Amino acid sequence: MLPLEIVLATRNPKKVEELRRMFVGNEIVFLGLNAFPGSPEVAENGSTFEENADLKSRAIAGYTQCHALADDSGLVVDALGGAPGVHSARFAGPGATDAQNLHLLLATLKRKGGVDHRARFECALSLCDPQGQIERFSGVVHGTIIAEPRGANGFGYDPVFVPDGERLTFAQMSAGQKDRISHRGRALEALAKGLPKILPIKTAEGAVDRLVSLR
Ligand code: IMP
Repeated sequence: MLPLEIVLATRNPKKVEELRRMFVGNEIVFLGLNAFPGSPEVAENGSTFEENADLKSRAIAGYTQCHALADDSGLVVDALGGAPGVHSARFAGPGATDAQNLHLLLATLKRKGGVDHRARFECALSLCDPQGQIERFSGVVHGTIIAEPRGANGFGYDPVFVPDGERLTFAQMSAGQKDRISHRGRALEALAKGLPKILPIKTAEGAVDRLVSLR
């Protein structure tokens, strides 16, 4: 049986890298959107992570006629009523850099007062088949936002997020350490466990056990 091809509905190379790293194996080949020139830009104008992930997976599955996997993720801060949430990537405005978003988050929390604000990262995964049928998976990691950035790894809000039960920020962890507990890692684990039930993967059970244990 040929490897199953799944198109990743993202142009974020860091996300593609994280996904490929977690699913090392021959049974599934992940293709980036660059394998499909002209694929549509999808507006992420949903009001939840799930809606945004569905918008992307459906559009890309329709265009490529392959299975398409999309994720939407972000940071939810309790003291900010759930912000930045679905606006995490553009918290400081359209085209904002990670550094600008991070700076605005810290400045906003500083004005609020208090320390170690409760927050969580959420990740919604949406897998759409060429007929438009969608399966959803999700992951969450709870933690606190610290006042001063620490660490240089990862991306986005990683330097200020300390997961519950840890002393390091995500940006101070190795990629593998982060993957094991991150929202995306947990959503992918749910995907790995759920895939054999919905797709014709030949060595399904063994392969998925192996994929999960590799993380
Ligand atoms: P998306 O590309 O629409 O899913 O937006 C995700 C945004 O949420 C990113 O640009 C980051 O600002 C933030 N984010 C999501 N996952 C992570 C993570 O693992 N670490 C740090 N920031 C993240």
